[in-house]
Amino acid sequence: MDTLYFNAVKQSEAGTKLGGGVIRAGGLVAFPTETVYGLGANGLDGAAVNRIFEAKGRPNDNPLILHIAKKSDLKELWKSVPEKARLLMDEFWPGPLTMVYLKSSRVPGEVSAGLDTVAVRMPANRTALALIRAAGVPIAAPSANLSGKPSPTSAEHVIEDMDGKIDVIIDGGSCAIGVESTVVSLMGGEVTILRPGGITREMLEAVVGPVSLSPAVLAPLKQGEAAPSPGMKYKHYAPDAEVIVGTGAPGDIAAKLIAEYEKREAGGQSCIIFATEETRRFYKGKRYVIIGERKNPITLCESLFAQFRANEGRADVILCEALPEADMGLAYMNRLLRSAGFKTI
Ligand code: AMP
Ligand code: MG
Repeated sequence: MDTLYFNAVKQSEAGTKLGGGVIRAGGLVAFPTETVYGLGANGLDGAAVNRIFEAKGRPNDNPLILHIAKKSDLKELWKSVPEKARLLMDEFWPGPLTMVYLKSSRVPGEVSAGLDTVAVRMPANRTALALIRAAGVPIAAPSANLSGKPSPTSAEHVIEDMDGKIDVIIDGGSCAIGVESTVVSLMGGEVTILRPGGITREMLEAVVGPVSLSPAVLAPLKQGEAAPSPGMKYKHYAPDAEVIVGTGAPGDIAAKLIAEYEKREAGGQSCIIFATEETRRFYKGKRYVIIGERKNPITLCESLFAQFRANEGRADVILCEALPEADMGLAYMNRLLRSAGFKTI
């Protein structure tokens, strides 16, 4: 199929109007959000939702997030709205927070991958909200990449993975946050982080008190262990190179990465280091790119996936620095460790 392309700035209304019609009619539209690009379909149409799984090659036991443009639409999609969910949506919607709770009968099983819960979020992006309004239905959307690849943070990334496979791509420039939304479960009266993101644990706790962290956020599932969130089971966010994470204090990390670099290069493998402003001086004479500032982890989140894609084919091994797992550092470490298949030194 020929994929239609719209620029969200120059052709804003045309893109969202046509895109909304395509979604209502059962087609697929990629669109920008503040986190990463989404691949959207009519969230109330099981057959349309199945096309998302086909286009991405996504395992069909991995459920999708429903995107809405009005807070009041949530009650149509859930059995009821727990008090903590109300508090969280008043504080953080529109924004990078996805909430999981018991689904209503309106939500097709294809969206929730057969679970009795469904994930919902209201994105903070003008184009995304206009598209949802134009569609007139909740939009089911995972990230608009081929399954297993790094999430797309620009329309060029979406074109790389999806051109010719979907109906429309709306280009809204680069995504501000660059990692997917925070996913929390509201089940059992508790708030549990299933995936860290732009709304941090600290921010959630300031609104609802103690928030727990699913152990699978920073460690691989044990063999046979059930995944609290199906996405945790899969290799994720991975570039075509081997990714290795150096841990410890910044100076120790650099020493470990340099030792690994020299060992691998001596063995005939090409390496690149994902350095930071604070640590670049350690890597003189080595091949490195600066991907952001350690003191400002959101800058690292913003560029991690784009740098994975930009360095595809340039190195056999990508050597990365661990960050403390607080604030946005938690989301960064979750994505990095998954990209590395939890390989640390
Ligand atoms: P993606 O849209 O590709 O960013 O992935 C959505 C993430 O939300 C995946 O990790 C899913 O496993 C998770 N998710 C979606 N729905 C649910 C649900 N009902 N229960 C638990 N996790 C969910
Ligand atoms: Mg994804």
